[in-house]
Amino acid sequence: MSCRLVCFSGRAAGLTLGRVHIDLHTHSTASDGTDRPADLVAAAAAAGLDVVALTDHDSSAGWAEASEAATRHHISLVPGLEISTMLAGASVHLLGYLLDPAYEPLQAELELILRARDTRLADVVERLQHCGVDICEADVRRHAGGALAVGRPHVADALVASGVVASRDEAFNTWLDRGRPGYVSRYATATPRMVELVTAAGGASVVAHPWGRGSREVIDAESVETLAAAGLVGLEVHHHDHTGSDSRMLETIASEHDLVMTGSSDYHGTGKVNHELGSHVTPTEEYERLLDRARVNALASRREVATVAGG
Ligand code: AMP
Ligand code: ZN
Ligand code: FE
Ligand code: FE
Repeated sequence: MSCRLVCFSGRAAGLTLGRVHIDLHTHSTASDGTDRPADLVAAAAAAGLDVVALTDHDSSAGWAEASEAATRHHISLVPGLEISTMLAGASVHLLGYLLDPAYEPLQAELELILRARDTRLADVVERLQHCGVDICEADVRRHAGGALAVGRPHVADALVASGVVASRDEAFNTWLDRGRPGYVSRYATATPRMVELVTAAGGASVVAHPWGRGSREVIDAESVETLAAAGLVGLEVHHHDHTGSDSRMLETIASEHDLVMTGSSDYHGTGKVNHELGSHVTPTEEYERLLDRARVNALASRREVATVAGG
């Protein structure tokens, strides 16, 4: 990363501009997005964003390329990850920002998750083949293009390429979602444990799309209280998966625990419709609170954390 301390640039902190556009959740080809990290950063700048976070699934592999591009495009890049966790049997995605990716206990968990993603692939392909779908593992790996976090979207891309379905969305609805013939579960870390790991790695954790599919049944006032006690910093209240009333209720839950309230697009390039860059954004004050909380955790951890680049 280009600087050791979390940078508060005039642009990012909203000191000189009226409205600052901040999008804290996006995916690149380092996981299941379709833009390379540098292209994503260029697209974010072109879309008028002042701050963008790169939060690939379970991997920080895109950070270096994105940070370098952020400097060129005069935009602030917040390094993050969207980590696969599990709470009461349901999948919960946890965003981890501004942490030290070299923190060994975190690295060990991410390796377990990535390995489970990798081994799941053969089972998914076998189930699909069993249903008469003409697909092979090599096809999927070609679509993953070397991403460490091989996921169902890459299987979906292989199904689209072979003409089985017309889109990623149709692939999930017909074959890959929970309850569909190609669904196979995989290992994910317990959510409170991952909140602790992100904190110990000097970063800040935020529950992604708390009331999106999967986590809606398990994220409530009680579980948020448990996660806040474990060190959770925020809830992503504004997201495509939430209705207006969901967001208002989540704001109430967040306020009760003094949690930061973020908003993000969850951009995946052409891989997900209605998730354009900046389609949901984080208010400047909430971004500043997130940076403050991350800075406190960074100091307490005494670790060399990744910092905001560019600006
Ligand atoms: P996986 O990480 O392999 O469990 O796959 C889950 C990922 O697939 C999510 O994080 C989303 O990015 C993506 N996804 C889920 N549903 C859809 C959908 N209907 N269309 C496109 N992408 C989806
Ligand atoms: Zn994704
Ligand atoms: Fe997610
Ligand atoms: Fe996401």
